[in-house]
Amino acid sequence: MAPKLQAPRGTYDVLPEQAAPRLALETIARRVLEGAGYERIETPVFEATDLFARGVGASTDIVQKEMFSFTDRGERSLTLRPEGTASVCRAFMEHGMHMLPLPAKLWYFGPFFRDERAQAGRFKQFWQIGAETIGSDDPAVDAESICLLHTILTAIGVEGVELRLGSLGTPETRAAYREELVAYLRAHEAELSEEVVARIELNPLRAFDADHEGTRKVMAGAPILMDALAPEDLAHFEEVRARLDAAGVAYRLDPTLVRGLDYYARTLFEFTSDVLGAQSAVGGGGRYDGLIEQLGGKATPACGWAAGVERMLLSAEHRPQPHEVCDLYVAGTGVAAFGLAAEARRAGLNVQLELAGRSRKGQYKQAARLKAGHIALVEDDGTVALEDTVAGTTEAVESAAAAVAHILKGRHL
Ligand code: AMP
Repeated sequence: MAPKLQAPRGTYDVLPEQAAPRLALETIARRVLEGAGYERIETPVFEATDLFARGVGASTDIVQKEMFSFTDRGERSLTLRPEGTASVCRAFMEHGMHMLPLPAKLWYFGPFFRDERAQAGRFKQFWQIGAETIGSDDPAVDAESICLLHTILTAIGVEGVELRLGSLGTPETRAAYREELVAYLRAHEAELSEEVVARIELNPLRAFDADHEGTRKVMAGAPILMDALAPEDLAHFEEVRARLDAAGVAYRLDPTLVRGLDYYARTLFEFTSDVLGAQSAVGGGGRYDGLIEQLGGKATPACGWAAGVERMLLSAEHRPQPHEVCDLYVAGTGVAAFGLAAEARRAGLNVQLELAGRSRKGQYKQAARLKAGHIALVEDDGTVALEDTVAGTTEAVESAAAAVAHILKGRHL
């Protein structure tokens, strides 16, 4: 017998009962972000591999071992996008968005792909909501980005949220600090995990992320980047913090915060939820002033974040539900019933038709299940008995148009 077909490991189907909370989350995010002037952008699901190699950073885990890359028939290397920022920056440059009033404020919602080991809250195909603000180095941009993600997480009821905040300074500060850190790690090589030792030159900052006992002990005494910030970076960071305080958004300073992407400079942040277990990061981001230049564009300051849809839903206390009401359930299966449903839909009502050949009793049960506001019992001669299920009244109406007018009138009361 042929093996049973299943979705690949690390992927999942969104079934109808899961589609509703996802849609509600998207709706909330859209309301919050578009309310603040962000506009939706959609970029392709695959891009030239080079975009991520240059954009995300050749030494990152993502580029080193997590990309789904393939060669097309023209021998070009393409990659399923592992994150959204590099693509949005590519689109910003490609479409000359620097000519528009800046900063450009863009948001997205879509699937991303990383060949990571699948586990609770970690998938090979996952969805992200992201927001990017391109063209301003104002600390208000950093603070506003953080506040908007905070607002979304609060609106959907994500539990046990903590915001960790840090600053990476400029690339120059980082380079000097990096040398200091590499020297420190070299001096303690014997106590570190093999993996950290192997990557000392490639990515020494990741040593702060290690779970290995010996490494953690060494890192407790390691030099801290925040202590090495240049005065202007420190001042920028203070301005961001003052705005978060003004907005009433609490945070914990975390001088060891590192994220798996190379392009960050200055502000860096991450929201975690303590109900998520090992994969506790709900969303995060930061400032990436050097990225557009690194991709071949004109130096352009920018800041942004991405949050995982699955993790937001997993950690939300009350799964958000959309308020899709059924205004009218049309009982009766004849052509007159069908005509009434069509007319009511054209008038903007949410209408459901009887499609399963139920008995009259079964039809009323179905209407109750759908919590229909009205039930139209349509006879084959076109006469309609219109029941208002909230008021508990039934009226005879002479036509489909009269039934629709009646429901619409009630709606605007
Ligand atoms: P990153 O781009 O790594 O900063 O990820 C941003 C957010 O996307 C994380 O905080 C997670 O919520 C989510 N995320 C990243 N990778 C995965 C994954 N493999 N599976 C599910 N969610 C993910």
